[in-house]
Amino acid sequence: MKIGAPDKAPSSIAAAVTDFLKAPKMLIGGTSCDGEAGSFDVFNPADGTVLASVPEASEADVDRAVAAAGATMAGTWGSMSGAGRTGLMLKLADLIEENGEELAQLETLENGKSIMMSRLIEVMSSAEYIRYMAGWATKIRGETLDVSIAIPPGTQYTAFTRKEPVGVVAAITPWNFPLNMAVWKIAPALAAGCTVVLKPAEETPLTSLRLVELVREAGFPDGVVNVVTGGGAVGAALVRHPGVNKITFTGSTETGKKIGVQAMQDVKPVTLELGGKAPMVMFDDMDLSLLGPAAGIGIFLNAGQTCCAGARLFIQRGIYKEAVSVLKNIVSSLPIGPGMDPANQINPLVSAKHHAHVKGAIDKGIEDGATPLLSGEAPDAGYFVAPQLFEGAGAQSALMQDEVFGPVATITPFDTEDEVIAMANDVRYGLGASLWSRDINRVMRLVPKVQAGTVWINSHNIPDQNMPFGGFKQSGIGREHGSGALDNFLETKSVCVAYS
Ligand code: ADP
Repeated sequence: MKIGAPDKAPSSIAAAVTDFLKAPKMLIGGTSCDGEAGSFDVFNPADGTVLASVPEASEADVDRAVAAAGATMAGTWGSMSGAGRTGLMLKLADLIEENGEELAQLETLENGKSIMMSRLIEVMSSAEYIRYMAGWATKIRGETLDVSIAIPPGTQYTAFTRKEPVGVVAAITPWNFPLNMAVWKIAPALAAGCTVVLKPAEETPLTSLRLVELVREAGFPDGVVNVVTGGGAVGAALVRHPGVNKITFTGSTETGKKIGVQAMQDVKPVTLELGGKAPMVMFDDMDLSLLGPAAGIGIFLNAGQTCCAGARLFIQRGIYKEAVSVLKNIVSSLPIGPGMDPANQINPLVSAKHHAHVKGAIDKGIEDGATPLLSGEAPDAGYFVAPQLFEGAGAQSALMQDEVFGPVATITPFDTEDEVIAMANDVRYGLGASLWSRDINRVMRLVPKVQAGTVWINSHNIPDQNMPFGGFKQSGIGREHGSGALDNFLETKSVCVAYS
């Protein structure tokens, strides 16, 4: 079913969704299958009920998935032209749109987010992302190189580079943007000519399982995209598998470090997109009418469960009182409730475990001396947390240093540019940041001083497929998006030709 108006609540859960939830299957080598290790439950965060029972992959399932991905790499897929890959990818993008409402509902049911965001971000921007990457499949190119090799005398040389797919890719994804993150990994890998074994987060595997059904329907050869489901152990089995040639991961810094260590042990290329603690720096000369989008998108999008969420606001003294008062009004009026009603802007957190983590971080913030500015109530059923702003958090406190990944931000006043840049950079993360000012001279002066992979000016938390995305410091290694995303999945081979 195609997506209707993004801001309309579904009149009922689509029949295709109800059917799908009865028996979701993994896809290995083009065949739907259960997991050898049994199954596990996926919950609806809006009410805590069980949504579906999902296959739990064994190590042997992981072996079979990697073998299938390797076989087609060496066969049908490996010999397909770039144009052939583009055609299949465009078909997949169309199928995602054609089944968009079903995918959006599945996403809201498993993740909790607003149906409007599921439609716009998870579905529509995923289809656009695949189309963007599909275009690169026919534009892969190397270079010709002049070389100065002098031996043996009389021999001449010319050299060129070829870009070749790295091979079987292990793609491990998080639960905050499940479909979108799967697509961020699969699309450039396919454009580069690689094959993929996808391991979605155990909290939110459903849209990935539905996505690979669409991959099959689009006509990709068997084994090009496989999905295995389960917890961290399944991800770890995939990461250390000798048949995997490249690892791409989005998730927490702690898990990213473990994956990085294993990758280095096996000397495998790895791309890591990890945590963040983004600063939003607001100067006296900013346009205060931007505080609405700053709060709604910059801080509280997806209930703060975004790695670029503006978790630390720094507001210059001259507008401090007024801006804090406006922010308090905006945030306390954000409607809280289930994501199936698009009017609700604060939706549940993804799981009981994460709910406990966010509540714990709020309690610790108060214990450490920070002052909560809001007293909103959250619904009792489900994993809801009312949005919270804090003043007076210590610079080295957990609230200012550690990722909460929930609807929580600190506010700190500042006086000078030097002071605020030092505070903004005083964390181990460096994924996103924003500067809010009408003064172009100030902005251009400060951009090079901000330690972050993306610096937004007068906006925050909005990525684009053409804009490289990734982290400085412990926020990651490598960049996704843009033409550079393909390089993550390509090896460079130098070819040196001697002639006389
Ligand atoms: P969170 O702590 O919020 O659940 P993680 O970073 O641990 O976030 O999870 C992101 C993804 O990494 C999930 O798909 C998860 O199953 C997977 N994962 C967790 N631990 C490991 C591991 N040791 N090796 C590989 N993947 C893992």
